[in-house]
Amino acid sequence: MRIFKESVDRKRLSIINDMPISIDIRQSSPGRVRFKNGSTSQIGCLGCINPRCMSFSEQEIECDYVSSFPCDKSIGVCPVDALSWDIVIDAPTIDICKCISCGICVSRCPIGAMYFSEQGEVHINSNTGYTEKNKIPDSSVKDIHLSQIKQLIKIPHTGILLNASDTLFERVYKKPLGIDSKYHNFIGRNLLIALGCKCSMRRIGDVYTRMDAIYLSSTGTFGAIEIEFGRDTLEAVRGILDDIAVLHTRYGIHRNNNKAMVICLQLPNERQGYWQVVKDIKSVEKIKIGTVTVGGLMFLLWNGCTLKPENDLYYLDYDNMDLRNILSKETGVAEIGLSKRKLGIMEPMK
Ligand code: SF4
Ligand code: SF4
Repeated sequence: MRIFKESVDRKRLSIINDMPISIDIRQSSPGRVRFKNGSTSQIGCLGCINPRCMSFSEQEIECDYVSSFPCDKSIGVCPVDALSWDIVIDAPTIDICKCISCGICVSRCPIGAMYFSEQGEVHINSNTGYTEKNKIPDSSVKDIHLSQIKQLIKIPHTGILLNASDTLFERVYKKPLGIDSKYHNFIGRNLLIALGCKCSMRRIGDVYTRMDAIYLSSTGTFGAIEIEFGRDTLEAVRGILDDIAVLHTRYGIHRNNNKAMVICLQLPNERQGYWQVVKDIKSVEKIKIGTVTVGGLMFLLWNGCTLKPENDLYYLDYDNMDLRNILSKETGVAEIGLSKRKLGIMEPMK
């Protein structure tokens, strides 16, 4: 994974004329900002100095709940290297062939300049709109710019990035299904960060720590993460037990404070041993391992939610393999537009 360096010289910087009070995010068109006087406007890419759409902060990738965790330092937001900076237009550019439509970059743009098309392709609004462009980026302009970005992040963002449907998920899932395994952990980690967690991914090559990642939700729930895109999900649940033991003995984290989760691409089939093993672990060890899919996490993100794994919310087992119900309550979407058993995202395929 490339480490994005933001030290690109800007030829211009955008300053907003008036601070909006809310930002309405929508599918198929750039976000609309609303001002105090009731008027609305679209605002194009601001050419940020530290583009949130492209890089995480150190705090986001370092889960300080576990000190000295061997954390991978990659700060690239795009988990599949589909984003780069176009120095000619001073804005991000997307390699559509690589993009998996996860929506992480879109969700992080503070002004709604990035948006999804109906087909789930990411676009950038480069229309100058309601900004004063071509400001020479001297230090005072940079300061105003940075302070405006800080304010914009705090402004309420409402609306849905992307509506789920069979066609959309079929298209979106085509790429992760065949993607190089080097991207798997980045997809899991970056989705968790976009969903409001701090998440540290194990440094590549560190075989001593073993777990794929650790997370800390915005409400203080901590846990180990195993990320499994293949069919060997049973191995992932065994790995979780290993992770719990390592975090207990080496880092002093009691297993009761470890709300571990498996992130899989597709839920294991009903007859696979996974579900029974998860149930057995709960019965014998009193440990409830959560299970969530990549598509489920994307669905939360597209609907403007954060991940709140409190009270073992994502615990599924042999008696209940229904992620749909949980996501429906979390997002407030009563009828999720994805057919039953489709791609194993909301419930097992068979
Ligand atoms: S797309 Fe958004 S976050 Fe990215 S540089 Fe433009 S304004 Fe900044
Ligand atoms: S939608 Fe996801 S995969 Fe596509 S460019 Fe953005 S971060 Fe990368």
